[in-house]
Amino acid sequence: MSLIEHRTVIVVGGGPAGLPLAAVLGGWQPFFRPATTFSRRYGPLADALQQVEGSLLGIDFNDLVARGIAPVDLFRALHHPRKLFEDLDQIAMGFRREQGVDTLLLTREEVGGLWNNAPRNLLTLSPGQWMEFAFYPLAQHADEMGLEIDVNTLIKKTDLIDYYHRIPERFAVEDRVRTWQDVYEIAPHERGFKVCTRDVKTGDESTYTCKYLVYATGQRAKLRQLDVEGEDQPFVTPFYDRPEDFPGERVMVVGGGRSGDWAATELHDAGKQVVYSMRQASGIHWQLINDSLYLPYYQRIADILREASPRMEALYNTRIKKIDPDGGVAVETPDGVRTVEVDHIVTEIGGWADYSLLQGFGPLSLFDKRDAYRFQVHQLQTHAHNYESIDIPNLYAGGYLAQDIGLVVMAMHGTTYAIAGDIMQKEGVLNTYAI
Ligand SMILES: Cc1cc2nc3c(=O)[nH]c(=O)nc-3n(C[C@H](O)[C@H](O)[C@H](O)COP(=O)(O)OP(=O)(O)OC[C@H]3O[C@@H](n4cnc5c(N)ncnc54)[C@H](O)[C@@H]3O)c2cc1C
Repeated sequence: MSLIEHRTVIVVGGGPAGLPLAAVLGGWQPFFRPATTFSRRYGPLADALQQVEGSLLGIDFNDLVARGIAPVDLFRALHHPRKLFEDLDQIAMGFRREQGVDTLLLTREEVGGLWNNAPRNLLTLSPGQWMEFAFYPLAQHADEMGLEIDVNTLIKKTDLIDYYHRIPERFAVEDRVRTWQDVYEIAPHERGFKVCTRDVKTGDESTYTCKYLVYATGQRAKLRQLDVEGEDQPFVTPFYDRPEDFPGERVMVVGGGRSGDWAATELHDAGKQVVYSMRQASGIHWQLINDSLYLPYYQRIADILREASPRMEALYNTRIKKIDPDGGVAVETPDGVRTVEVDHIVTEIGGWADYSLLQGFGPLSLFDKRDAYRFQVHQLQTHAHNYESIDIPNLYAGGYLAQDIGLVVMAMHGTTYAIAGDIMQKEGVLNTYAI
């Protein structure tokens, strides 16, 4: 029988939400540092924080919320007192390694979350520095690595994932991170939680227990399926990386959101014959295009569609009915069912937050969050001061799985400090103080 390993905290999911917790719970604590823009914009708060000698993780977050300040907003203001990055000194927090708590991060791929599987040439939707952690500004990373990155512009996916990959070693928390571990069950246990994992590469299974669990599996831990006959054909994939992976002429992209738009545009410009199949109406697609013209690839897809390029056929109000082994795809269009012959099918139909790992806890209260950029997620209902589930004590929702957190990375980072602070205060590592 295999041994059960006990940890104080287990974080499930190593994306932009879970990864910083490995460092902060590992002891990298934030301390207030006077900074001009922060003081100018948030004078009374800056004055109060100036009196604090201890770690910002010791703040009484309940008291903060009672005064109308959400922890995410406090830490976002400290990190990004303005949207533009000017220099390292504008961040009103410095980090030092102090006492941490025993923490293990389990994730089923490399750290960096869904960015591992994002298309190779994709640019972020937000300026690079909005995707960074406060304890390691992207500008500092670029400087240390000798990279030319303009952190105020959209950056390449490859630069972003290299940054995330570097975190465990840079902050000496590699021993707290186990990659390629698929968590398949989280259940109640007398010590808190039981966590069962399977190694993605070897199939080896392990069991852990922990007192606190941070659930940071992301908003698309489970990818949507077409649910049609033939979906399992080898030429059908939900992972689009780059055009070179698709030998042959004819590629069908199924989607209609940002990921589908990227794949369809890049495949078209690589000379492929693209059939772009969407369930939505043309007007809804064009609304997304028009709202997104600040992104270069949206200007491009707008041009391709307006010019009616002979290598791009957009099929609106269309459903895939069946995929034949020879590449024939039956599609139902407003003009009737037709068959399209393809070499490949890329499905970019999104995914959803997966709470099915939590077994034996009773019903979970969820919160339906949507934003203007078409991101949508079922969030866990959580307490406003610490992002702990209202249903399951000591279960924390990481990033924007927590109630009402905005669906961009910059909006979610503050959850890191409130969750880590709450756990450290409960564990007696830090004294609690009001500001
Ligand atoms: C194409 C695309 C572009 C985007 N661009 C931007 C952008 O520019 N700016 C922005 O702010 N946001 C952007 N987003 C939103 C994106 O969700 C965030 O950037 C970010 O990745 C969310 O971080 P996360 O840690 O919550 O989730 P994820 O990045 O999804 O990380 C969760 C991790 O948990 C792992 N996991 C899930 N289930 C399990 C399990 N059972 N066991 C073990 N591990 C598990 C996953 O495999 C993954 O590694 C984009 C999203 C997409 C799809």
